[in-house]
Amino acid sequence: MKRFAQTAFDLLWPPCCESCGEPSRDPVCAACRAAMPLRTADGCCSTCGKTLLEGEADRPGDGATCRRCRDEPPWFDAARSAVSFRGPARPLVHALKYGGQTWLAGVLSTWLEGCWLAHFADERPDFVSSPPMHPLRRLRRGYDQARLLAAALAHALGLPCECGLVARRRATPTQTRLDAEERAANVRDAFAVVPGARERIVGKCILLVDDVMTTGATLGALSRVYREAGAERIICMSFARD
Ligand SMILES: [Zn+2]
Ligand SMILES: [Zn+2]
Repeated sequence: MKRFAQTAFDLLWPPCCESCGEPSRDPVCAACRAAMPLRTADGCCSTCGKTLLEGEADRPGDGATCRRCRDEPPWFDAARSAVSFRGPARPLVHALKYGGQTWLAGVLSTWLEGCWLAHFADERPDFVSSPPMHPLRRLRRGYDQARLLAAALAHALGLPCECGLVARRRATPTQTRLDAEERAANVRDAFAVVPGARERIVGKCILLVDDVMTTGATLGALSRVYREAGAERIICMSFARD
């Protein structure tokens, strides 16, 4: 009977791939999984993980850094992203971020876990965290997608998730239409350590997780706050890289 009910339900509302919308039992169908634009270390900055432009590398091969990291080293030690923000990755981020599909955090975190194993398997973070969302935006959206991703990855790695140590001091306008310099200015001084939280940051290795990384301005500004509060090592990861 239960089986019949399930079949009837599936006929009326067939389960679909969250990325392409084609019928699929898996929330991300086999075709979308195969087409996922996975990022590798090849041709990427060894510090911030961005794709190096033609002639931008300070030296060829592994260990090359981009011009920006060389001129102005970021506040984090390393940053990597699981996939590029295109193809099947885009609708998934959109569904998690704006579509209320909070359960997708657990699905997307499997790619974050793969990224972790590829780049940071030897690291031993003390805890996982994410950029805090302003309380008003959190109230409007009803959830914080970066925090959900951080919690899912922390769970998979068996690490604690500490999301209340740093707060967003002011609401920052959305970054979507801003260039690198505007983004940096937009998030400057946006974060502050919560009173009494400093002692839980001093000497710690911290893994910061976000949904999408574009110029790295948000994770950079957040890393600065942790670093100035005494963090020993800061690693950043995002599901997608724009
Ligand atoms: Zn699909
Ligand atoms: Zn770089």
